[in-house]
Amino acid sequence: MAEGVYLLDAWQFGRPGTGGVYLLSGAEAALVESGTSLAAPRILAGLEEVGIPREAVHWIFVTHVHLDHAGGAGALVQELPRARVVVHPRGAKHLADPTKLVASVKQAVGNRFPLYGEAIPIPTGRLHPARDGERFTVGAHSLRAVFSPGHAPHHLCFFEEVKGLLFTGDAAGLYLGDRLIPATPPPSFDLELSLATLARLSALSPKALCYTHFGLRPGGEGLAEYGKLLRWWVQLVEERRTEEAVLAELARQGWPVEDERVREDLLMSVRGVLMYLDRREAEGT
Ligand SMILES: [Zn+2]
Repeated sequence: MAEGVYLLDAWQFGRPGTGGVYLLSGAEAALVESGTSLAAPRILAGLEEVGIPREAVHWIFVTHVHLDHAGGAGALVQELPRARVVVHPRGAKHLADPTKLVASVKQAVGNRFPLYGEAIPIPTGRLHPARDGERFTVGAHSLRAVFSPGHAPHHLCFFEEVKGLLFTGDAAGLYLGDRLIPATPPPSFDLELSLATLARLSALSPKALCYTHFGLRPGGEGLAEYGKLLRWWVQLVEERRTEEAVLAELARQGWPVEDERVREDLLMSVRGVLMYLDRREAEGT
């Protein structure tokens, strides 16, 4: 992808090209994201294919604790003897004890839940709660943790400063088949926080965006583009108010709503915006 950086396909929901794990390779190596626990065997096979011994993996950087990003970290630390998991301080307790997290995912994703795998608790000694701006050196790579709330309060992006790669997690939306798709799930999506985060990320002037869903996109323009999309999206949901009405409008505008993966993500994102609007109304702002 770029020198020393690989994208491992986690085959999220049994499909290629929807969820990924990045590998920073070298004598010292690291993963960005873990995928779900169902992806762990694939990730280990990917390390072997690239020729990275398991002891060489020092870090697993997870952008947030949602199971498609961090659910497999517990399974991976059992297999990677030196790896520690870098996570937002507000997310750490959920990886040490995933009970609450699993319950909330179950509620958010409904019948897709079995596809998220099981979450194995991570011993606290293998967790590293990151500070905003904290730098990590991994061989020739230098990663900076950037707090990036909006999609979730415990969201982090990682900026690889040598090559200018920004690992966006879900803070800059989903990028599937050349289309940006809103990632605004319940329970904590927040428009204002998301827009502030996007401005903060743009100020880093990334050379490329590395989406977890899915792959590298050259340039940083996707950040401003996503801000525009989010404003439009929240307004659309505010006007239409129901999942069916929003989807009907998207279909009319040529969105690929018949694609089951896209459809499920959009439905979840409608529900997230409705919760955000209710909260905003209750706060009287
Ligand atoms: Zn995600």
